Amino acid sequence: MIPKKIRIKTTLCLGILLMFVNLSEVSAQTSKIEKPKNVILLIGDGMGLSQISAGLVYRGGDLNLARFKVVGFIQTHSADDFITDSAAGATAFSTGKKTSNGSIGVDSSGKTLETILEWSEKKGLSTGLIATAAITHATPASFIAHVRSRNMHYDIAKDFLKTDVDVVMGGGMAHFRNDSLKIDLLSGLVNKGYKIYDSTTSIESISASRFYAFSNMYHPPKMLDGRGDYLSKASIKAIEILSKNKNGFFVMIEGSQIDWGGHSNQTEYIATETADFDLAIGKVLDWAVNDKNTLVVVTADHETGGFALKGGSYENKTVEGGFVTNKHTGCLIPVFAYGPGSEQFSGIYDNTEIYHKIKSLLESR
Ligand code: MG
Ligand code: ZN
Repeated sequence: MIPKKIRIKTTLCLGILLMFVNLSEVSAQTSKIEKPKNVILLIGDGMGLSQISAGLVYRGGDLNLARFKVVGFIQTHSADDFITDSAAGATAFSTGKKTSNGSIGVDSSGKTLETILEWSEKKGLSTGLIATAAITHATPASFIAHVRSRNMHYDIAKDFLKTDVDVVMGGGMAHFRNDSLKIDLLSGLVNKGYKIYDSTTSIESISASRFYAFSNMYHPPKMLDGRGDYLSKASIKAIEILSKNKNGFFVMIEGSQIDWGGHSNQTEYIATETADFDLAIGKVLDWAVNDKNTLVVVTADHETGGFALKGGSYENKTVEGGFVTNKHTGCLIPVFAYGPGSEQFSGIYDNTEIYHKIKSLLESR
């Protein structure tokens, strides 16, 4: 039996202690904006809701995208057109500014805009770019180059040498070396300390900390023509190398050819490319779930084809598609986010916000 006096004291002390516990819980909650160490941005070029739906059917109803709990939508118009192209779309993601169609990393007047990749490099993060197209193609180019026209592949390739991007994987080796045009940017890359691989068949064995791995002289083949699991392997290799930096990393991974399936109005092309992109998303997500410090954002620059599902079967994994155009369309595009800061990505907002949200999360660490 505890004497009364002591019991009161004990109660008081407990009360004060509980008060402190409660206060610290509150302050922990209010100051708890989760900040990612690493950011992985995945862009499915031309991937609208119908493309995702086709991928879902093709995968028998099982998509890695379904593992994301935070979903939002973006408006995608460019500075000079209701319908964006991939250059203006990716420049909105990479710089936070609307620009004219065709412009890569510059505003409508041609002024250079710092990209999130360049900013990340400056802040000491490691960076990477991966695509299933030539690496000088509009989407990846917009994260590293600054040119008025997306068709200036040689000028875009030259801009790669002006950055310290660590890991680059994709097609387009011909834009870095062309003997008949006497272009040799590859030796420039070697002089900067990069290892160059002219194939991506043995990505797994790469151990260099800074490298370019070219799958093809121009574009990698489509899934239907046997590209295989290049995108998943490249994504995991990039993460493995980039995550060695204790300051964190930023990488952009593009499923480039979903768009080309839309342009060519080929349902199977769309479904197979979306399914491949989703497999890479799954690999990335597995890694991020384990890491706990990585924000994963999946979105698209625009929809392509005005694609719709007119029929199909989950059992037979078939889709009957219809198209209203062979160009891009202007509908809202979904955004999927996972990891620290992911809750910032819900709602409906402008495509430029992707940049601002990622940057402010990385900035506030
Ligand atoms: Mg693209
Ligand atoms: Zn396109």
